[in-house]
Amino acid sequence: MPNKVAVVTGGSRGIGRAIVLALAGAGYQIAFSYVRDEVAAMALRDEVQGLGIDCLALQCDVSSSDSIKGFFERVDGHFQRVDLLVNNAGITRDGLLATMPARDIVEVIQTNLIGTLLCCQQVVPGMLRQRGGCIVNISSVAAQKPSKGQSNYAAAKGGVDALTRALAVELAPRNIRVNAVAPGIVKTEMSTALIGSQEEEIQSRLLIKRYAEPEEIAEAVLYIADRGLYLTGEVLPVNGGLKMP
Ligand code: NDP
Repeated sequence: MPNKVAVVTGGSRGIGRAIVLALAGAGYQIAFSYVRDEVAAMALRDEVQGLGIDCLALQCDVSSSDSIKGFFERVDGHFQRVDLLVNNAGITRDGLLATMPARDIVEVIQTNLIGTLLCCQQVVPGMLRQRGGCIVNISSVAAQKPSKGQSNYAAAKGGVDALTRALAVELAPRNIRVNAVAPGIVKTEMSTALIGSQEEEIQSRLLIKRYAEPEEIAEAVLYIADRGLYLTGEVLPVNGGLKMP
């Protein structure tokens, strides 16, 4: 697939980084975004380019519609097409709802849900013209089986699951598939706080008694993109059998 182009939001660290490397290994040309960690982003870009893969690393804050628009304009200027969009960028602001600052609700919904919708909106017209494409949204087990203090995040990821199904219905006639991957607890900076405060409870809920590696989530994304060609409108759980508390 020398000509396929993938866009990954939040590619500089964690799960996004593993997705970028997995897609590069499968031959995709890649544009990925970062928001703060420029050093990590440039190191990853250099690593991918070292594999002989064309790779763009651009700053984009998915909580800002202007930033998203500018990012996709630059991607389009460079690659002129997008075959695969992976909406990975996300944040948590965990806390009990009774005392949660309103901004933590707004930021989490804006980044995880509205950011995902707006990124989809940027690539859909091109995919409609191409009559083909694939979108993979990174959801979370929290949408179905949340931990304590995740009402804002669970609401946002539940919205991501719903938009995945709705967009799959809308785009299937033009050969565009839309799916989501819902990870459990993955070893990244994001999960450090959650693991730190609720380690015992989380371990007791896991059937597979370890946390996921980011590469295991990337593998699921690659499967949906390249091999799961009869999959659309699905949310694929990759959570080690995590149960409700
Ligand atoms: P990390 O915190 O390790 O990395 C987050 C990535 O998203 C970074 O690349 C960061 O960029 C980027 N990012 C953060 N905010 C924004 C923003 N406003 N605009 C654009 N990019 C942004 O997170 P993970 O790798 O753990 O999580 C990736 C995805 O997986 C998220 O959607 C998360 O909700 C989901 N997930 C994670 C789980 C886990 O256990 N880790 C479990 C279930 C789902 P920068 O480096 O520049 O800050």
